Amino acid sequence: MKMMLRRISYLFTPIMLLCAVGLVMAMRPEPSGLERVLERGTLTIVTRSAPTAYYRDQHGSTGLEYELARGFARQLGVKLEVRHADSLNELFRMVERGRVDLAAAGLSVTDQRRQRLRFSTPYMSVTEQVIYRRGEHRPRKLADLEDSTMVVLAGSSHEERLTTLKEEGAIPGLQISTIEGATSERLLMLVEEGEYDYTLVDSNDFLVQRALFPELGAGLELGDGHLAWAFSPGTDHSLYRAAQRYLTGARTNGRIAELRQRFYGEKEQFNLYSARYFIRHIETRLPEYADEFRKAGEETGFDWRLLAALGYQESLWDPAAVSPTGVRGLMMLTRRTAREMGVDDRTDPIESIHAGAAYLRKLHDRIPERIDEPDRTWMAVAAYNVGIGHVEDARILTQRQGDDPDSWAQVRQRLPLLRQPEYYQQARRGYARGGGQAVIYVRHIQRYYNTMVWAANSEKHQPLQLAMK
Ligand code: GLU
Repeated sequence: MKMMLRRISYLFTPIMLLCAVGLVMAMRPEPSGLERVLERGTLTIVTRSAPTAYYRDQHGSTGLEYELARGFARQLGVKLEVRHADSLNELFRMVERGRVDLAAAGLSVTDQRRQRLRFSTPYMSVTEQVIYRRGEHRPRKLADLEDSTMVVLAGSSHEERLTTLKEEGAIPGLQISTIEGATSERLLMLVEEGEYDYTLVDSNDFLVQRALFPELGAGLELGDGHLAWAFSPGTDHSLYRAAQRYLTGARTNGRIAELRQRFYGEKEQFNLYSARYFIRHIETRLPEYADEFRKAGEETGFDWRLLAALGYQESLWDPAAVSPTGVRGLMMLTRRTAREMGVDDRTDPIESIHAGAAYLRKLHDRIPERIDEPDRTWMAVAAYNVGIGHVEDARILTQRQGDDPDSWAQVRQRLPLLRQPEYYQQARRGYARGGGQAVIYVRHIQRYYNTMVWAANSEKHQPLQLAMK
């Protein structure tokens, strides 16, 4: 009997232990959404390919949404993982089913979506623009849309807007078509080709693609869009709250303004005139030099389109270009730089391209290696224009003023200051006459470069052969 009891108690101990562990496990609260992200070490987002959200360039993945999400992941101390959705409806399903932590895809907050999803505070406002073929009747009021056709993305805020207007009886004669799994570029192409009279897109979308669609224009606006991140509705709001704090911070500390400037270049928008010329010159002038830019890119490790963008800003790809200050040729080398780079004839486009690229490489190598891309490249490009000494002075000034000397967004604010005595008197290189000009110079090159990268990704512009390799 005693023996049996002992045996039972032997058995009991492990069982009790297991029960105790089970109890403790059960009592331990489920990790919150935020804790799960931190434990996994990864923030998973879903996005869509669009010049306004996510695409790839020389340095890999980029785009406003990508960079904004990367900042959030960095703040959390985790890696960013990007999933891709081909359509808005697919994207919403992924969020609802918890396959991703959030959606960052230029999404507008709408009444219908709010019933299915939880939206962050908007980080940007846009307007919804009716796009038409220039030279045809420009729609200015709702009545102008009568008896015409309009195409929009299936599941988009634009579809919702049109359906509401239709239900209200505001546009009874408008025929609305929707396309699943397209991009706004596709919609613009369909209007350009005359398949439909109009499309409805977000103003930021049209802004960045306008250079690629010089035949299209923006007519009336049908409303505002407030862009935000989308989360699954659930009861756990920990990650959502962390995102709210991050986005509010990004708005107040200027990060969002900086990203808007970088991706939309709003202050420096191509006017229609220069947009048309740029695309025309890509067709008429670039083919003669594209191979040389490609070779120079391979030699120096730069994306050839960056070199081409620089060349366009310098000379509009004209090998005979001359400036009043004596710089010359396609890459506009000074006499001194030409000598330094062993150029015999500055007006020889081949020599000019290779020397210009090698010179940019030299400048890039002199900018501290710890500086992240693309900032290091933009500093090198600024140095190509104003000289590395002034860029260095602007970095020192940035640091003195308590900002980050490794951030191009900060340094570019100091370059124009080097024209004022209170600043240049303390600078090693002194007065930088072209300080402000260099900032605009870089902005133009960013604009040309981005346009080429987007054109390379675009269906319509495949024949231009602007792919990276
Ligand atoms: N803002 C639009 C939406 O939320 C998507 C942007 C687009 O049209 O590409 O539906």
